[in-house]
Amino acid sequence: MTNKIADRISSMNTSIFAVMSKMAAEYNATNLGQGFPDFDGPTWIMDEAHKQMKEGKNQYAPSQGIFTLRYEISQVQEKYYSLEYDPESEITVTTGATEALYCAINGLINPGDEVILFEPYYDAYISDVILAGGIPKFVTLHKPDFNFDIKELERALTTNTKMIIINSPHNPSGKCFNLGELEAIAQIARDRDLIVLSDEAYEFLTYDSIKHIPIATLPGMKNRTITINSTGKTFGMTGWKIGYSSASSILTSAIRKVHQWTTFAVNTPAQHAMVLGFKNLDQYLPDFQKLYQEKRDLALALLKKTNFNAHIPGGSYFIMIDIPKGVYIDDVDAATKLVRETSVATIPPSVFYSKSDEGKTMLRLCFAKSDKTLIDGINKLSGI
Ligand code: PMP
Ligand code: GLN
Repeated sequence: MTNKIADRISSMNTSIFAVMSKMAAEYNATNLGQGFPDFDGPTWIMDEAHKQMKEGKNQYAPSQGIFTLRYEISQVQEKYYSLEYDPESEITVTTGATEALYCAINGLINPGDEVILFEPYYDAYISDVILAGGIPKFVTLHKPDFNFDIKELERALTTNTKMIIINSPHNPSGKCFNLGELEAIAQIARDRDLIVLSDEAYEFLTYDSIKHIPIATLPGMKNRTITINSTGKTFGMTGWKIGYSSASSILTSAIRKVHQWTTFAVNTPAQHAMVLGFKNLDQYLPDFQKLYQEKRDLALALLKKTNFNAHIPGGSYFIMIDIPKGVYIDDVDAATKLVRETSVATIPPSVFYSKSDEGKTMLRLCFAKSDKTLIDGINKLSGI
C-alpha cells in the first residue's frame, strides 16, 4: 500500500509524556516526568460516582454536558472571579481540557490563520493548530523568570494573527502571568480584534499567596476569551478526563460544533460526581492547596541539596531545573541517561520550544507525587 497518512500529521510524534512514562516503567524508575498525582483524589467524589451509576446515570449525557454540572461551573466562575457565564449557552463540558483545546482551536482557526504560542508551550497547542491548518508563531518566555519581551510579541503579530494562546499557571515553568503581562496581552487582543484562548487548568494551584488572574476578568476581554479548565487538576483525578470551557455564546457554539463530532458527550456518572465536587469546592480547596504548597516546598528543599538549580514555580505542579553544566550533551541526553542509569524519569523540555534553545539546558519535574516518591526521585539527582 502507498503512504496513506494525512500530510498534516506527518510532523507529529508520540507525546513526550507517554514516551517518558513508558521508559519509567521499562527501567523501573521513579516517575517525576508525566504530570499526574501518584496518590488518589477525594474518595467522596468516587463514592458519588458509584452512587450515580447505581442510580442509573449510565446513558449518554447531553452533548454540551449535564446542566447541573454546567450550573455549578458557572457558580465557581462567579464566586471566585466575578465572571458571569450562562450555563445554557456559554459553558461546555469536554473530555478533559485536552478536548476543549482541540474543539476551540478547530472551531475557530481557518487554514492560514496564525496563532501566537508562548514557548515553552503545552504540546497539545501546536498539534491542534496544525490539525486546524493554522500557523503557529512563537514568543519565548525567557529564563530565568520566564518573562516575555513585549517587542518580541509585537514582532510575531501579523494581519493573519487570529488567536493568542496563554497558559497560566504555566506548564512547564510554573509561571503565573501577572496583571501587567495580562494587561499587555489584553490590549493587543482588543486593538487587533484577536481571540485569547486561556488555558487555566492549574487555576487553583498557586503558591506563596500568588493570586490567579483569569484574563477574561480584564476590561473588554470576556467576550473575546475562551477559558479552559480541568477537574483533573482541581480534584487530582486526571484519569476521569472532565474538562470544560467558558466563553461567549458565539465562541461556545463553535466549540460545541466540534465537540459534537469529536466525542459528542462526556462520561455521564463522572459528570454527576463532579457536581458534588464543585458544590464542596470551598471546603475542599484549603487542604488541597496546603498539600501542594508543602509538596512544592519539599521538592525545592530537596533540590537545594543537588547541583540542579530550581526555577521556583509560582503555580502548577511542575518545576524547571537547570542541568549542571558539562555533565550531559543536552536535555534529551540528560533525561535519557537519568532514566536508564539513575532510575529517575523527568521531561526534557526542548520539545516544548520551536524557536529558542533554552529548553536544552533544563529538565521538568512533576511534584504532584507522594513525599516518598519526591524524596526517592530527587535524592537520586544528588550524586550528579
Ligand atoms: N493544559 C495543560 C497546561 C496541561 O498541563 C494539561 C494536562 N496536564 C492539559 C491542558 C490537559 O488536561 P486534561 O488532562 O484535563 O485533558
Ligand atoms: N499534562 C500532563 C503533563 O504535562 C500530561 C498529560 C498527557 O500525558 N497528555 O505532564
